[in-house]
Amino acid sequence: MTDCTYCGSDLTPYNPVFVTRGRGENESREGAFCNYGCLSAWLEETEAATGACCRIDV
Ligand SMILES: [Zn+2]
Repeated sequence: MTDCTYCGSDLTPYNPVFVTRGRGENESREGAFCNYGCLSAWLEETEAATGACCRIDV
């Protein structure tokens, strides 16, 4: 079971949005979100903190 990285909701009833960083062997899961609202809110906070650029898998 996975919880939303931003708000902590159980993702089971949702079609979650996943964010990964890197490709192939270096790919790592950055977060999973119940909707784009949580994704965008999390991205704003994360990018503000790190300046990182993420690839979004839908
Ligand atoms: Zn959420």
